[in-house]
Amino acid sequence: MGTINRQWHADHRMPAKATEDQRGAWHSEHIEACGCRELSAREQDLVVRWRDAQRAAKD
Ligand SMILES: [Zn+2]
Repeated sequence: MGTINRQWHADHRMPAKATEDQRGAWHSEHIEACGCRELSAREQDLVVRWRDAQRAAKD
């Protein structure tokens, strides 16, 4: 568990009705930039799927 990166959070507001894609992107960036809390199994799964989709899109 890291400390909260307030600046990052101020700059990256999660939309109220975020799509799965937006949540995947948000959590993926959050892990790198802040990581103030552990991801739930569900969120981790979301990030894995989002990253796979990003990779697939580049091919
Ligand atoms: Zn954070």
